[in-house]
Amino acid sequence: MIDLRSDTVTKPTPAMIKAMSNAVVGDDVFGEDPTVNKLQEEVAGMFGKEAGLFVPSGVMSNQLAIKSQTQPGDEVIVEAESHIFHYESAGPSILSSVQLHTLPGNNGTISEETLAGAIRPPDYHMPPSRLLCLENTHNRYGGAVYPFEEMKNLCTRARKFGLLTHLDGARIWNAHIATGLSFKEYGELFDTVSVCFSKGLGAPVGSMLLGDRDTISRAHRYRKVFGGGMRQVGIIAAAAAYAVRNNIERMHEDHEKAKIFREILSELVDLDFLPAQLPTNMCIIDIRKKTSKSVDEIIQEFKDHGVLLTPSGQGKVRAVMHLDVSMEEVKTAAGIIRNILKQ
Ligand SMILES: *Cc1c(COP(=O)(O)O)cnc(C)c1O
Repeated sequence: MIDLRSDTVTKPTPAMIKAMSNAVVGDDVFGEDPTVNKLQEEVAGMFGKEAGLFVPSGVMSNQLAIKSQTQPGDEVIVEAESHIFHYESAGPSILSSVQLHTLPGNNGTISEETLAGAIRPPDYHMPPSRLLCLENTHNRYGGAVYPFEEMKNLCTRARKFGLLTHLDGARIWNAHIATGLSFKEYGELFDTVSVCFSKGLGAPVGSMLLGDRDTISRAHRYRKVFGGGMRQVGIIAAAAAYAVRNNIERMHEDHEKAKIFREILSELVDLDFLPAQLPTNMCIIDIRKKTSKSVDEIIQEFKDHGVLLTPSGQGKVRAVMHLDVSMEEVKTAAGIIRNILKQ
Protein backbone atom coordinates (compact mmCIF):
# COMPACT_ATOMS: atom_id res chain seq x y z
CA MET A 1 0.00 0.00 0.00
CA ILE A 2 1.17 3.51 -0.79
CA ASP A 3 -0.23 5.51 2.10
CA LEU A 4 -0.88 9.14 1.19
CA ARG A 5 -3.66 9.74 3.72
CA SER A 6 -1.69 12.11 5.91
CA ASP A 7 1.77 13.29 6.91
CA THR A 8 1.00 11.80 10.33
CA VAL A 9 1.28 8.15 9.22
CA THR A 10 5.08 8.12 9.48
CA LYS A 11 6.87 5.75 11.87
CA PRO A 12 9.89 6.62 14.02
CA THR A 13 13.19 5.70 12.38
CA PRO A 14 15.91 3.68 14.17
CA ALA A 15 17.88 6.92 14.76
CA MET A 16 14.83 8.56 16.32
CA ILE A 17 14.14 5.51 18.50
CA LYS A 18 17.78 5.61 19.63
CA ALA A 19 17.37 9.27 20.64
CA MET A 20 14.22 8.28 22.54
CA SER A 21 15.86 5.44 24.41
CA ASN A 22 18.83 7.63 25.33
CA ALA A 23 16.62 10.46 26.64
CA VAL A 24 17.32 11.75 30.15
CA VAL A 25 13.93 12.04 31.83
CA GLY A 26 12.24 13.36 34.99
CA ASP A 27 8.72 14.12 36.19
CA ASP A 28 7.48 16.86 33.88
CA VAL A 29 4.50 17.65 36.12
CA PHE A 30 7.17 18.84 38.57
CA GLY A 31 8.87 20.64 35.65
CA GLU A 32 11.81 18.26 36.08
CA ASP A 33 12.14 16.57 32.72
CA PRO A 34 15.38 17.98 31.24
CA THR A 35 14.59 16.75 27.73
CA VAL A 36 11.20 18.48 27.74
CA ASN A 37 12.63 21.67 29.24
CA LYS A 38 15.36 21.78 26.62
CA LEU A 39 12.90 21.20 23.76
CA GLN A 40 10.60 23.94 25.05
CA GLU A 41 13.51 26.39 25.22
CA GLU A 42 14.87 25.36 21.85
CA VAL A 43 11.60 25.69 19.91
CA ALA A 44 10.58 28.90 21.72
CA GLY A 45 13.98 30.31 20.73
CA MET A 46 13.49 29.30 17.09
CA PHE A 47 10.29 31.37 16.97
CA GLY A 48 11.64 34.24 19.07
CA LYS A 49 9.19 33.46 21.88
CA GLU A 50 9.84 33.55 25.64
CA ALA A 51 8.36 30.16 26.45
CA GLY A 52 6.97 26.91 25.08
CA LEU A 53 4.65 24.23 26.44
CA PHE A 54 4.91 20.63 25.20
CA VAL A 55 1.45 19.07 24.77
CA PRO A 56 0.10 15.76 23.43
CA SER A 57 -1.73 17.11 20.37
CA GLY A 58 -2.24 20.02 18.02
CA VAL A 59 -5.84 20.28 19.11
CA MET A 60 -4.80 20.70 22.73
CA SER A 61 -2.29 23.34 21.73
CA ASN A 62 -4.90 25.38 19.81
CA GLN A 63 -7.45 24.94 22.59
CA LEU A 64 -4.94 26.10 25.20
CA ALA A 65 -4.17 29.17 23.09
CA ILE A 66 -7.88 30.01 23.11
CA LYS A 67 -8.41 29.16 26.78
CA SER A 68 -5.46 31.19 28.00
CA GLN A 69 -6.26 34.29 25.90
CA THR A 70 -10.06 34.64 26.28
CA GLN A 71 -12.82 34.93 28.86
CA PRO A 72 -16.17 33.10 28.60
CA GLY A 73 -18.44 35.05 26.27
CA ASP A 74 -15.60 36.42 24.13
CA GLU A 75 -15.57 36.04 20.39
CA VAL A 76 -12.75 34.31 18.50
CA ILE A 77 -12.38 35.11 14.81
CA VAL A 78 -11.38 32.27 12.47
CA GLU A 79 -11.44 31.66 8.74
CA ALA A 80 -14.46 29.58 7.68
CA GLU A 81 -12.44 26.56 6.51
CA SER A 82 -10.09 26.51 9.48
CA HIS A 83 -9.07 23.42 11.42
CA ILE A 84 -10.18 25.08 14.67
CA PHE A 85 -13.70 25.46 13.28
CA HIS A 86 -14.06 22.12 11.46
CA TYR A 87 -11.94 19.55 13.23
CA GLU A 88 -11.69 20.36 16.92
CA SER A 89 -15.03 18.94 18.01
CA ALA A 90 -16.44 22.30 19.16
CA GLY A 91 -13.58 22.56 21.65
CA PRO A 92 -13.79 26.37 21.93
CA SER A 93 -17.43 26.22 23.05
CA ILE A 94 -16.92 23.25 25.38
CA LEU A 95 -13.63 24.24 26.96
CA SER A 96 -13.53 28.05 26.78
CA SER A 97 -17.22 29.04 26.46
CA VAL A 98 -16.34 31.35 23.59
CA GLN A 99 -18.16 31.96 20.33
CA LEU A 100 -16.42 31.39 17.02
CA HIS A 101 -16.99 34.01 14.35
CA THR A 102 -16.16 32.43 10.99
CA LEU A 103 -15.12 34.75 8.17
CA PRO A 104 -15.18 33.82 4.49
CA GLY A 105 -11.66 33.54 3.15
CA ASN A 106 -9.73 33.29 -0.07
CA ASN A 107 -7.64 30.08 0.01
CA GLY A 108 -7.59 30.39 3.78
CA THR A 109 -6.68 34.08 3.98
CA ILE A 110 -8.88 36.82 5.43
CA SER A 111 -8.96 40.29 3.89
CA GLU A 112 -8.45 43.36 6.07
CA GLU A 113 -11.87 44.67 5.03
CA THR A 114 -13.56 41.43 6.09
CA LEU A 115 -11.78 41.55 9.43
CA ALA A 116 -12.67 45.21 9.96
CA GLY A 117 -16.32 44.42 9.27
CA ALA A 118 -16.32 41.66 11.88
CA ILE A 119 -14.96 43.68 14.80
CA ARG A 120 -17.69 44.32 17.37
CA PRO A 121 -18.33 47.81 18.64
CA PRO A 122 -18.41 48.21 22.43
CA ASP A 123 -22.07 47.34 22.85
CA TYR A 124 -23.43 45.09 25.59
CA HIS A 125 -25.63 43.28 23.06
CA MET A 126 -22.53 41.90 21.38
CA PRO A 127 -19.65 39.61 22.38
CA PRO A 128 -16.25 41.33 22.72
CA SER A 129 -13.91 40.52 19.79
CA ARG A 130 -10.85 39.06 21.49
CA LEU A 131 -8.67 36.76 19.41
CA LEU A 132 -7.84 36.21 15.73
CA CYS A 133 -6.64 32.73 14.71
CA LEU A 134 -4.95 32.11 11.35
CA GLU A 135 -3.70 28.86 9.82
CA ASN A 136 -0.46 28.36 7.86
CA THR A 137 -0.15 26.21 5.85
CA HIS A 138 -3.88 25.74 5.40
CA ASN A 139 -5.19 22.18 5.79
CA ARG A 140 -8.54 22.40 3.93
CA TYR A 141 -6.94 24.41 1.11
CA GLY A 142 -4.45 21.63 0.45
CA GLY A 143 -1.45 23.08 2.25
CA ALA A 144 -1.79 26.58 0.79
CA VAL A 145 0.83 29.02 2.08
CA TYR A 146 -0.54 32.22 3.61
CA PRO A 147 1.17 35.10 1.69
CA PHE A 148 3.45 36.69 4.28
CA GLU A 149 2.78 40.38 3.58
CA GLU A 150 -0.97 39.77 3.75
CA MET A 151 -0.59 37.93 7.01
CA LYS A 152 1.59 40.69 8.42
CA ASN A 153 -0.82 43.45 7.42
CA LEU A 154 -3.78 41.53 8.81
CA CYS A 155 -2.05 40.93 12.16
CA THR A 156 -1.05 44.60 12.37
CA ARG A 157 -4.65 45.57 11.70
CA ALA A 158 -5.90 43.05 14.28
CA ARG A 159 -3.58 44.52 16.91
CA LYS A 160 -4.94 48.01 16.14
CA PHE A 161 -8.39 46.64 16.92
CA GLY A 162 -7.05 45.35 20.23
CA LEU A 163 -7.21 41.69 19.23
CA LEU A 164 -4.74 39.05 20.31
CA THR A 165 -3.42 36.81 17.53
CA HIS A 166 -2.80 33.07 17.34
CA LEU A 167 -1.19 31.07 14.54
CA ASP A 168 -2.25 27.46 14.03
CA GLY A 169 1.11 26.47 12.62
CA ALA A 170 0.67 22.69 12.61
CA ARG A 171 2.46 22.84 9.24
CA ILE A 172 4.43 26.07 9.66
CA TRP A 173 7.49 23.95 8.77
CA ASN A 174 6.12 23.61 5.23
CA ALA A 175 5.48 27.35 4.97
CA HIS A 176 9.08 28.00 6.05
CA ILE A 177 10.42 25.60 3.41
CA ALA A 178 8.17 27.06 0.69
CA THR A 179 8.96 30.73 1.41
CA GLY A 180 12.43 30.63 2.95
CA LEU A 181 11.16 32.93 5.71
CA SER A 182 12.51 32.27 9.19
CA PHE A 183 10.38 30.97 12.06
CA LYS A 184 11.18 34.20 13.93
CA GLU A 185 9.56 36.23 11.16
CA TYR A 186 6.39 34.21 11.61
CA GLY A 187 6.64 34.22 15.40
CA GLU A 188 6.86 38.01 15.54
CA LEU A 189 3.40 38.46 14.02
CA PHE A 190 1.55 36.43 16.65
CA ASP A 191 1.00 36.40 20.39
CA THR A 192 0.92 32.60 20.34
CA VAL A 193 1.98 29.96 17.83
CA SER A 194 1.08 26.27 17.81
CA VAL A 195 3.39 23.79 16.06
CA CYS A 196 3.12 19.99 15.53
CA PHE A 197 6.02 17.56 15.65
CA SER A 198 3.94 14.65 14.34
CA LYS A 199 2.99 16.33 11.06
CA GLY A 200 5.61 15.98 8.38
CA LEU A 201 8.50 15.94 10.86
CA GLY A 202 8.06 12.26 11.63
CA ALA A 203 7.77 12.32 15.44
CA PRO A 204 5.19 9.90 16.86
CA VAL A 205 3.50 12.41 19.23
CA GLY A 206 3.56 16.00 20.33
CA SER A 207 2.83 19.63 19.68
CA MET A 208 3.90 22.85 21.32
CA LEU A 209 2.31 26.16 22.21
CA LEU A 210 4.67 29.15 22.11
CA GLY A 211 4.15 32.60 23.55
CA ASP A 212 5.20 35.01 26.28
CA ARG A 213 5.87 33.75 29.81
CA ASP A 214 2.54 34.89 31.28
CA THR A 215 0.40 33.33 28.58
CA ILE A 216 2.33 30.06 28.64
CA SER A 217 2.11 29.93 32.41
CA ARG A 218 -1.70 30.23 32.18
CA ALA A 219 -1.69 27.58 29.45
CA HIS A 220 0.40 25.36 31.74
CA ARG A 221 -2.32 25.48 34.39
CA TYR A 222 -5.02 24.71 31.82
CA ARG A 223 -2.98 21.88 30.35
CA LYS A 224 -3.35 20.24 33.77
CA VAL A 225 -7.09 20.94 33.72
CA PHE A 226 -7.44 19.45 30.22
CA GLY A 227 -5.68 16.27 31.38
CA GLY A 228 -2.47 16.95 29.48
CA GLY A 229 0.01 16.82 32.38
CA MET A 230 2.53 14.10 31.52
CA ARG A 231 5.31 12.51 33.59
CA GLN A 232 8.59 11.10 32.14
CA VAL A 233 7.60 12.51 28.80
CA GLY A 234 11.18 13.22 27.75
CA ILE A 235 10.88 9.90 25.90
CA ILE A 236 8.62 11.50 23.32
CA ALA A 237 10.14 14.97 23.60
CA ALA A 238 13.40 13.34 22.48
CA ALA A 239 11.66 12.17 19.30
CA ALA A 240 10.32 15.69 18.73
CA ALA A 241 13.78 17.17 19.33
CA TYR A 242 15.28 14.70 16.88
CA ALA A 243 12.60 15.62 14.34
CA VAL A 244 13.16 19.38 14.71
CA ARG A 245 16.93 19.01 14.38
CA ASN A 246 16.95 16.57 11.47
CA ASN A 247 13.71 16.59 9.53
CA ILE A 248 12.83 20.19 8.70
CA GLU A 249 15.25 20.97 5.90
CA ARG A 250 14.53 17.68 4.10
CA MET A 251 10.90 18.72 3.70
CA HIS A 252 11.56 20.31 0.32
CA GLU A 253 11.65 16.69 -0.92
CA ASP A 254 7.99 16.31 0.08
CA HIS A 255 7.14 19.51 -1.79
CA GLU A 256 8.93 18.15 -4.83
CA LYS A 257 6.91 14.93 -4.55
CA ALA A 258 3.64 16.91 -4.45
CA LYS A 259 4.73 18.87 -7.51
CA ILE A 260 5.52 15.72 -9.52
CA PHE A 261 2.33 14.03 -8.30
CA ARG A 262 0.34 16.99 -9.56
CA GLU A 263 2.21 17.12 -12.85
CA ILE A 264 1.38 13.48 -13.57
CA LEU A 265 -2.30 14.06 -12.82
CA SER A 266 -2.31 17.26 -14.85
CA GLU A 267 -2.05 15.08 -17.95
CA LEU A 268 -5.79 14.71 -17.47
CA VAL A 269 -7.59 17.81 -18.67
CA ASP A 270 -10.31 19.37 -16.54
CA LEU A 271 -8.90 18.37 -13.20
CA ASP A 272 -8.97 21.04 -10.51
CA PHE A 273 -6.47 21.09 -7.69
CA LEU A 274 -5.99 22.76 -4.35
CA PRO A 275 -3.98 24.71 -3.55
CA ALA A 276 -4.63 26.89 -6.58
CA GLN A 277 -0.96 27.91 -6.68
CA LEU A 278 2.23 25.99 -5.99
CA PRO A 279 1.77 22.95 -3.75
CA THR A 280 3.62 22.38 -0.49
CA ASN A 281 3.28 18.74 0.62
CA MET A 282 -0.36 18.11 -0.33
CA CYS A 283 -2.61 17.83 -3.30
CA ILE A 284 -6.40 18.00 -3.13
CA ILE A 285 -8.06 16.74 -6.31
CA ASP A 286 -11.58 17.67 -7.32
CA ILE A 287 -12.85 14.50 -9.01
CA ARG A 288 -16.31 15.76 -9.98
CA LYS A 289 -15.53 16.56 -13.61
CA LYS A 290 -13.87 13.16 -14.07
CA THR A 291 -16.23 10.63 -12.58
CA SER A 292 -19.81 10.22 -11.45
CA LYS A 293 -18.66 7.98 -8.61
CA SER A 294 -18.84 9.21 -5.04
CA VAL A 295 -15.70 10.16 -3.15
CA ASP A 296 -16.02 7.01 -1.01
CA GLU A 297 -16.37 4.77 -4.06
CA ILE A 298 -13.38 6.27 -5.81
CA ILE A 299 -11.25 6.09 -2.66
CA GLN A 300 -12.14 2.39 -2.39
CA GLU A 301 -11.12 1.90 -6.02
CA PHE A 302 -7.76 3.62 -5.40
CA LYS A 303 -7.32 1.37 -2.37
CA ASP A 304 -8.08 -1.76 -4.42
CA HIS A 305 -5.18 -0.66 -6.62
CA GLY A 306 -2.84 -0.05 -3.69
CA VAL A 307 -3.16 3.69 -2.98
CA LEU A 308 -4.65 5.20 0.16
CA LEU A 309 -6.14 8.71 0.06
CA THR A 310 -8.70 10.51 2.26
CA PRO A 311 -11.85 12.47 1.42
CA SER A 312 -11.45 16.24 1.71
CA GLY A 313 -14.77 18.01 1.46
CA GLN A 314 -17.42 17.62 -1.22
CA GLY A 315 -16.21 15.87 -4.36
CA LYS A 316 -12.57 16.05 -3.32
CA VAL A 317 -9.84 13.63 -2.33
CA ARG A 318 -6.56 14.44 -0.67
CA ALA A 319 -3.02 13.10 -1.08
CA VAL A 320 -0.30 14.07 1.38
CA MET A 321 3.43 13.55 0.87
CA HIS A 322 5.68 12.63 3.77
CA LEU A 323 9.02 11.14 4.70
CA ASP A 324 7.87 7.50 4.61
CA VAL A 325 6.90 7.61 0.94
CA SER A 326 9.51 7.64 -1.83
CA MET A 327 9.43 9.63 -5.07
CA GLU A 328 9.06 6.33 -6.95
CA GLU A 329 6.00 5.39 -4.88
CA VAL A 330 4.53 8.84 -5.44
CA LYS A 331 4.95 8.49 -9.21
CA THR A 332 3.39 5.02 -9.10
CA ALA A 333 0.46 6.30 -7.03
CA ALA A 334 -0.14 9.25 -9.35
CA GLY A 335 -0.10 6.91 -12.35
CA ILE A 336 -2.66 4.60 -10.75
CA ILE A 337 -4.97 7.50 -9.85
CA ARG A 338 -4.61 9.00 -13.34
CA ASN A 339 -5.49 5.71 -15.00
CA ILE A 340 -8.54 5.19 -12.81
CA LEU A 341 -9.80 8.75 -13.40
CA LYS A 342 -9.14 8.44 -17.14
CA GLN A 343 -11.66 5.61 -17.56
C1 LIG B 1 -3.51 18.33 12.33
C2 LIG B 1 -3.80 19.73 12.58
C3 LIG B 1 -3.99 20.19 13.89
C4 LIG B 1 -3.88 19.31 15.11
O1 LIG B 1 -4.52 18.12 15.08
P1 LIG B 1 -4.12 16.89 16.03
O2 LIG B 1 -4.84 15.77 15.40
O3 LIG B 1 -4.59 17.22 17.38
O4 LIG B 1 -2.65 16.74 15.97
C5 LIG B 1 -4.25 21.53 14.05
N1 LIG B 1 -4.31 22.36 13.01
C6 LIG B 1 -4.11 21.97 11.75
C7 LIG B 1 -4.14 22.96 10.65
C8 LIG B 1 -3.86 20.63 11.49
O5 LIG B 1 -3.67 20.23 10.23
